[in-house]
Amino acid sequence: MFVYADNAATTSISKTALDAMMPYLTDYYGNPSSLYSFGQKAAEALQASRETVAKYLNASPKEIYFTSGGSEADNQAIVSAARLGARKGKKHIISTQFEHHAVLHTLSRLEKEGFEVTLLDPHSDGVIRLEDVEKALREDTCLVTIMFANNEIGTVQPITEIGALCRERKVPFHTDAVQAAGHMPIDVQAMNIDMLSLSGHKFHAPKGVGVLYARKGIVLTNIIEGGAQERGKRAGTENVAGIVALAAALKESCDHMEENTAKIIPMRDKLFRELAKIPHSKINGSLEHHVPGTVNMCFEGIEGESLLLMLDDQGICASSGSACTSGSLDPSHVLLSIGLPHEVAHGSLRLSIGEYNTMEQIDHIIEVVPKVVAYLRSISPVWDELEKGERPHLI
Ligand SMILES: *Cc1c(COP(=O)(O)O)cnc(C)c1O
Repeated sequence: MFVYADNAATTSISKTALDAMMPYLTDYYGNPSSLYSFGQKAAEALQASRETVAKYLNASPKEIYFTSGGSEADNQAIVSAARLGARKGKKHIISTQFEHHAVLHTLSRLEKEGFEVTLLDPHSDGVIRLEDVEKALREDTCLVTIMFANNEIGTVQPITEIGALCRERKVPFHTDAVQAAGHMPIDVQAMNIDMLSLSGHKFHAPKGVGVLYARKGIVLTNIIEGGAQERGKRAGTENVAGIVALAAALKESCDHMEENTAKIIPMRDKLFRELAKIPHSKINGSLEHHVPGTVNMCFEGIEGESLLLMLDDQGICASSGSACTSGSLDPSHVLLSIGLPHEVAHGSLRLSIGEYNTMEQIDHIIEVVPKVVAYLRSISPVWDELEKGERPHLI
């Protein structure tokens, strides 16, 4: 049985998205900046897509900028706020330890340029506390950037409250909502969000297309220089087909959000319930504040990488830490940020499921994972020491 359980890394393209984009790859290939009506066909599709995206975020179409993905949107949001801040002598940024590297690495670059960055620690439940944001705010803070939902452990942050606090203190607030868009309701106005990033391939659109929402009045700095596309803020001939697919996929995901969630939650809960029966296992992240489909657990005495390879042999695609860090032997920065010891963080497994998964697939996972964990423990010197009492169990 083949089971794709890595939807937080990327998703399949939905039929709706593929059907919507296809004419712009074949028949209507004109450049939207052209004056002739053939190009205008593409320009109209772009405008319609912009309106759709705006509608589902409760934004205005003029506040939507199409990018090459979530990473670019994160980069542009952060750099824009930093440049604006620097002009006013404000060079302090607040973020968190468990952001995506698109945020963390942009912040490190700014640090080298003389910005001061405060990275808040989430609590052990994987949730950032409002009072910690409040304590970190300073006169010279030019940006608060805190992710909507974490990509490894799925925990959801108190975005509305953080947004309200930032608005009261007149500090721009950006959120990386890549894991939330299409999976949870987002309303940039009600949630007090000034800038927001999302990425098509996390909700069944193709890879390489994303959105930066920037509230009217936010001054953007270009990351890509060139032509006057995206109202001069993002150069490069638009990825028309990708953008059309992104809008179609966002519409489809949002229109079916309730029924998708109702399908995913019982599958996720079954995974948690059954896998938690494995001795010396631990569920990571609060289940109360959680995106529907992400399951993250640790199993003591094993290596996550070995677990993944053995799951692959059984047809199961899963991940340990984020795709971007796997391949390195460092444990996940997210799991360390919620206070897990290195030894425990090494034995992590992320299963992220979506509406295309079935209960039969979940049953397959539930049958395979305990066997693989037991096998890996049987050949693990660390597990041997734990069992003999030569070192204490940590979970
Ligand atoms: C996937 C992801 C990104 C990067 O998006 P791309 O479109 O792949 O560049 C950024 N942030 C989070 C939280 C993600 O999950």
